[in-house]
Amino acid sequence: MRHRIAVVGSGPAGLTFARVLQRHGYPVAVLERDPTPDARPPGGTLDLHEGLGQLALRKAGLLAEFQTLSRPEGQAMRILDTAGTVLRDWQPRPDDRANPEIDRGQLRDLLLGSLDVQWGRAVTEVVPGTRDGALVHFVDGGQETFDLVVGADGAWSRIRPAVSSATPHYTGVTSVETSLEDVDTRHPDLAQLIGDGSVAVYGVNRALVAQRNSGGHVKVYAQFRAPLDWHTNLDLADVEAVRSSLLALFDGWAAPVLELLRHGAAFVHRPLYVLPVSHTWRHVAGVTLLGDAAHLMPPLGAGANLAMLEGAELAESIANDPGDLDDAVRTFEEQMWERAGRWAKITTAGLERLVSPDPAEALALFDEVQPS
Ligand SMILES: Cc1cc2nc3c(=O)[nH]c(=O)nc-3n(C[C@H](O)[C@H](O)[C@H](O)COP(=O)(O)OP(=O)(O)OC[C@H]3O[C@@H](n4cnc5c(N)ncnc54)[C@H](O)[C@@H]3O)c2cc1C
Repeated sequence: MRHRIAVVGSGPAGLTFARVLQRHGYPVAVLERDPTPDARPPGGTLDLHEGLGQLALRKAGLLAEFQTLSRPEGQAMRILDTAGTVLRDWQPRPDDRANPEIDRGQLRDLLLGSLDVQWGRAVTEVVPGTRDGALVHFVDGGQETFDLVVGADGAWSRIRPAVSSATPHYTGVTSVETSLEDVDTRHPDLAQLIGDGSVAVYGVNRALVAQRNSGGHVKVYAQFRAPLDWHTNLDLADVEAVRSSLLALFDGWAAPVLELLRHGAAFVHRPLYVLPVSHTWRHVAGVTLLGDAAHLMPPLGAGANLAMLEGAELAESIANDPGDLDDAVRTFEEQMWERAGRWAKITTAGLERLVSPDPAEALALFDEVQPS
């Protein structure tokens, strides 16, 4: 039986869903708002866990290619205090493949492969239960019906309202991101500080984290507790004004650590939003959600992993129960809610401890998850 299936969004969730469904011989329409794959910078590096993102890639038949692209050495993690003293310097064993890193752009291209994504097709809403199925409305005024519409359209999903009234709320922690290029040649001291993977410095209610991507590219994240309107008197487009404001916020931290903030050519403000922990909904025939659209949580290394595994599992659930699409979706939703609820609790508690009044909490958390 051939169902008319659409997935909205070509992030990790949507692409993995489409790849696995395609692998099982099912056609799927991938509807993406961006006009081209490179319309936006793809973002930083992702660590894919053996039992989550890597399992999804196995289900998509892409694990071997991932292994050649990914950076196991990127798992290295160094923790400093604000005086610049190294408190932990964790190095993976040479054969450690538990959580290798991959650039987001590389992962996207790997998942894209030969998929026929419909670029520039921004969806405004979906109306379930019409005579012909779930009706998708596009921003250009177009409409199309499907037997199943999968909302994999991220934090600010336009599909979510069809099943749930939940909306993301601010965590109280914001993040300002910048990048360093050619770090090994242009900033050798910082290259040494960061090492092969990441360095994190924890202070009172704030943290500086730098993560190495491939090709000498580094992403730096300044995270701190602040009201959402903390920048009212700051022009976020004024690079030097943002830099000065961050340097003032991290005043007193060791000079080599503050170098992380001195060289970026642009800053991007990303307040951290989440959906309620254990977000579920009353099943609606013809529409479901995956990834951040279903369970946006603090960015502590789980979101893309869950999104990918959910994409793979929903595709398998449909392929295993082709006669009853609705039953396949219900079975999947129960499985997703249970696991995502667990991770939402873990990451919410994790954010409280990583950006906390007591920096010792961050170190204790690191020791709990990386005990060697
Ligand atoms: C700084 C940072 C670091 C992170 N690090 C990690 C990590 O190391 N490991 C990890 O597992 N997770 C990490 N995450 C979380 C991870 O990025 C997300 O959980 C993941 O991207 C969610 O994937 P998704 O496919 O659900 O949504 P997204 O990646 O948000 O993709 C949604 C897609 O839908 C498209 N779209 C949106 N609206 C529409 C529309 N109306 N019509 C059509 N298309 C639309 C978007 O253009 C996009 O392509 C991090 C997040 C941040 C912010």
